[in-house]
Amino acid sequence: MAKGRLFIISGPSGAGKSTLINDVLKDLRDFEKSLSFTTRPIRDNEKMGKHYRFVSQKDFKKLIEEDKFLEWASYCGHLYGTPSESVDKKLKEGKNVILEIDVQGAMQVKEKVKDVYMIFITPTCLSEARERLRRRGTDVDEEIEKRIAAGSEEMESKKYYDCIIVNNNYNEALLNLKEELNREKGR
Ligand code: 5GP
Repeated sequence: MAKGRLFIISGPSGAGKSTLINDVLKDLRDFEKSLSFTTRPIRDNEKMGKHYRFVSQKDFKKLIEEDKFLEWASYCGHLYGTPSESVDKKLKEGKNVILEIDVQGAMQVKEKVKDVYMIFITPTCLSEARERLRRRGTDVDEEIEKRIAAGSEEMESKKYYDCIIVNNNYNEALLNLKEELNREKGR
């Protein structure tokens, strides 16, 4: 069986990445999203094992020592990491795998996996991202501002990506994302 291809999707918090990915996955059955580990506190609307594997700082550090991560990074004070084993397994099974990870993690993967395809999703401007985060209502203002500052730094790295999608019109962005994934999956 042909191996699947690895994809990275990054972009500032509030760019709409998760919603786009969830909608894309409803149609593209040969794609799966990798489930990350994080030390971030669980939100009310999240489920353990669905959105993330939520773990303690101690358990996360143990996973680092055991070399279980393809990549990991600290983002706004919390640790996030992609487990190598489950990603490898999915790829071997012929699935294309999407990593929704930040720019620091993306750069680590790019070093290790030469044929990774990297997509950057951006809002029209960061104030639009701020508005989305406010509407989402999961973060206090201080956390939102931390995320916007991190997003501003992340925007500097969009030049390292293979493709940039502006999430200005949602349906257009969704169509663009589907087209990119479908076109690149067999390469
Ligand atoms: P959130 O807290 O909003 O779920 O995620 C914050 C940021 O961490 C987002 O940019 C998200 O893409 C990124 N992220 C999620 N999982 C991982 C991961 O496994 N590794 C890295 N490096 N970043 C991740």
